[in-house]
Amino acid sequence: MRKNNLIKLLIFFIAFSSIIYFDSIKGYCKNIVVVIDPGHGGDSIGGNMDNRIERDINLITAQAVRERLSQYDDVEVYLTRENNTDKELSREERFKLAKKLNADFLFSIHYNMSEYHTLFGSEVWVASQGSYYTKGYAFAKIEMEALTGLGLFDRGIKNKLNDNKNGEYYGILKYAEDYNIPAVIIEHCHLDEERDSAFWNEEAYKQFGYIDAESIAKYFNLSSSSLDIDYSDYPVEEVSAPDHRLDVDSSEPEYCELSIDSYDDTNTYATIKAKDSDTYVQYYQISTDGGNSYPRLEPWENRTVDQQSVVIPRAETDQNIVVKVFNQYEYCTTSNTEFVPAIIVVEETVAEDTTKEDFKDADIDLVVIKNKISSEISPVMILVVTLVALFILFNLLFFAVVLSKSKKRKKRVNKKRETLNAQNNAKLYSNDEIFEFIDDEFDWK
Ligand SMILES: [Zn+2]
Repeated sequence: MRKNNLIKLLIFFIAFSSIIYFDSIKGYCKNIVVVIDPGHGGDSIGGNMDNRIERDINLITAQAVRERLSQYDDVEVYLTRENNTDKELSREERFKLAKKLNADFLFSIHYNMSEYHTLFGSEVWVASQGSYYTKGYAFAKIEMEALTGLGLFDRGIKNKLNDNKNGEYYGILKYAEDYNIPAVIIEHCHLDEERDSAFWNEEAYKQFGYIDAESIAKYFNLSSSSLDIDYSDYPVEEVSAPDHRLDVDSSEPEYCELSIDSYDDTNTYATIKAKDSDTYVQYYQISTDGGNSYPRLEPWENRTVDQQSVVIPRAETDQNIVVKVFNQYEYCTTSNTEFVPAIIVVEETVAEDTTKEDFKDADIDLVVIKNKISSEISPVMILVVTLVALFILFNLLFFAVVLSKSKKRKKRVNKKRETLNAQNNAKLYSNDEIFEFIDDEFDWK
C-alpha cells in the first residue's frame, strides 16, 4: 500500500508540475491581442467631405489592418465593428469588448477634417501619463515615420487634457486608462484639404491599413513566416514616463515678427521670426491685404529654427503684408504689418499717327503709367488736350486782333480830336461825338 501511495503521489506530482509547466509555456507564448477600432459607425459618420465619409473609410482601413496583421505569427486581431450600418458602439463599449478579448492594445482608426478646411497632414493622439503615454508614444513614433514617409505632413504626436485638466480629452484615451488597455488614435490624413488629395481613394485607404499593420508588427516585434518578415529585433524606442500628467500647449506662439528684407519688380523677400516654446511653429500664412484675407497655410520648414525666409509675389496694387503663425495645436499669433508699394510698370509707346495737322510731324514718346484706367483713356486724353490747346490758341489770336484794332481806333480818335480842336478852339467834343465822325469817315468792318 505504501508503495502504491508513493506511486500515486509521484503521478500526482508529475501531473501537477506538468500543468504548471504547460500553463507557463502557454502564458509565455500568449498571442498578442490587438483590437482595431474603426472610428464612428451607424449614424455617427465622422467627417464627411464631398461624400468622403470617414465612418466608411475608417472601416476600409481597419479591415486592411486585420487582413495584413493576421498574416503575422502569434497575434490575434479583432475589430470593434464589421459594418457601417449597425448602431455605433459607445467608446466605453469598445473597451468592454477589448477587455473581454484580453486586448494588449487598442488602435482607433480615424481620418481628419478641420473647421476651415485649411489643415493637412497626419497626427497620432496619445495618452498623457504613465505607461499609457510611453506605449502610445513608442508606437506613434513608428507610425508617424511611416505616414510621413508617404509624403504626408507631420502634425506630430499629441495629447490633450479635458477642461478640468484632470483627465484625457478624448474618450478613447480616457477609457484606455479606465480599462487598463493602452490605446492611440491615428488620424491618417485630412479629407478636406487638397494637399492630402492623393490619398482620397480606396487603394490609399487600404494602403494606410497595411502601413498600420506593419507599424503594429514592428512595435510588438512580430514576425511573419508567410510574409517572410522578421521584426523580432526591431528597435522600439524606449520612452520614459512623465512624472505627472502632461499638460498641453494652450497658448499662442510667443511672438511673430515680419521684416521686409528687399523687393524687386516681381517679389518681396521677407523674414518671419516666430517662436512657440510649448510645442513649435507648424504652419504660417501670409496676407497681402492687411489681414482681410489669408491664402492657404504653408508648412513652417524647420521646427528647430525660429525664423523662416519667404518670397511674396508683388502686385499692381499696394500691399499690406501681415503674417500669422500657428503652433502644433493651431493657436496663432499675428505679426506686425509691413507696407510694400504697387509695382510700377513703365511701358514706352509711340503715339499713333493723328489726323490733326498740328501733330502730323510730331514724334511723341508717351510714358504711360500702366493701370487699368489710364491705359483705356489715354488716346481720348490726347484728343481732349489737343482740342483745348487749339481753342486757347484761337482765342488768343482773336483777342490780339481785337486789341490791335482798338488801339488803332483810339489813335485815330485822338488825332481827330486834335484836328477838331484846331478847327474850333471854343468847343470840345465828347468821345462819342468823335466816334460818330470817325465812323462816318472810316469803315471799321
Ligand atoms: Zn473621427
